[in-house]
Amino acid sequence: MIVVSKFGGSSLSCATQFEKVKNIVKSSNQRNVVVVSALGKRDKDDTKITDLLYILGAHLKYHVGYDDIWNMFYTRFVDVKKELNLKYDIEKDLNDLKSELTSHIQIDYLVSRGEYFTAKLISEYLGYTFVDAKDIISFNYDGRINYEVTEEKAKAAFEKYGKIIVPGFYGSFPNGHIKLLSRGGSDVTGSILAKSLNVSMYENWTDVSGVYAADPRIVSNPRSIPQITYMELRELSYMGANVLHEETIFPVQELQIPINIKNTNDPSNPGTIIKDKCEDTTHIITGIAGKKDFVSINVLKDHMSNEIGFLRKVLSIFEKYNVSIEHLPSGIDTISIVCSKDNIEKYLYEIVSDIKRELQAEVTFDDDLALLAVVGRNMAGKIGLCAKLFTILGDANINLKILAQGPSELNIIVGVSEKDYNKAIKEVYAKLIA
Ligand code: ASP
Repeated sequence: MIVVSKFGGSSLSCATQFEKVKNIVKSSNQRNVVVVSALGKRDKDDTKITDLLYILGAHLKYHVGYDDIWNMFYTRFVDVKKELNLKYDIEKDLNDLKSELTSHIQIDYLVSRGEYFTAKLISEYLGYTFVDAKDIISFNYDGRINYEVTEEKAKAAFEKYGKIIVPGFYGSFPNGHIKLLSRGGSDVTGSILAKSLNVSMYENWTDVSGVYAADPRIVSNPRSIPQITYMELRELSYMGANVLHEETIFPVQELQIPINIKNTNDPSNPGTIIKDKCEDTTHIITGIAGKKDFVSINVLKDHMSNEIGFLRKVLSIFEKYNVSIEHLPSGIDTISIVCSKDNIEKYLYEIVSDIKRELQAEVTFDDDLALLAVVGRNMAGKIGLCAKLFTILGDANINLKILAQGPSELNIIVGVSEKDYNKAIKEVYAKLIA
């Protein structure tokens, strides 16, 4: 059995964290493929190596002196090397990189060096072979992963070396140029490798003991979720639960490879298992998540429901401005289009006036909107659940602006004023989920 184990930046922030990673990797003979992020923050005021590299890139581009930033970057790696008594001549490789620093340096290449050097250090420390992500993770020129080539290369490397370390967060185009994934993308590298090698488990090691049933910044000590389906996790992370990179589940979901989220600082905690189907029926609601900063555009026109094509015409206006739509709550002669503020902000007034002009409808908008999603695979067919939820919010004096539940009954979405957001999460968690 092969396991892919990905360690995030906080699991690799300093020599002490490297030691924890070594203990974890060595405690099982299945952890043969290790993926690493770049050195992360040692404490909350520290700077992640990846952020330092982006800052360095900006200094180079605008011809601003960068000695201090370079020294911070250099020292972080050399300190880990010294504390762990490693032999790898990282000083030479870092100095070589320094000699390449010009305003023309490719930013993707520069930023990828965080993962690259972290993987180099840990490969010696674990005695695993370093395999550069540029030689495995293969992109097409359109920026999409070429799974065929990636799988071939991953299998060849694994068969050749047996125990490998791969830096996360980047790959390469067919011409060899480095391409980064989006921020937090080492999670996705791990998932791509898990799929390519068709492993039995993808472990994702971080600094929390799994997925929580509510945001710990709002609810103190929320319970962690032992098992969650891919679909539930997708709903929760789409609605703001900050666990894994959003794209992580897609590669593994196809082959139904489970993901186990584990805590490097508490390895005996079982964490959360994410898989296709979960047998556990202990909780009706798996979790609650939410986001602020939505806008609803409310369209009103008499006899709207009889006007064939009305909805298509409204939606095509959003399409014209390339604005994606989150929800569409409707009445007989009204329809509301809910979008994220980020997406619509630039075109809000154009969209409102286009709808008024092209459809002769009345249009208003509400930009004080937060959405909450109550998610649970066990919610389907549970009579009275919505009644309980609405009573809790009503008793807390919270007005519901929007309600939505799809026929899969996997989630119930409610829209509230931003001022009520935290209170709504706390109340629902305490009375329905805890
Ligand atoms: N180091 C990269 C970032 O900070 C990628 C990752 O950690 O997954 O976004």
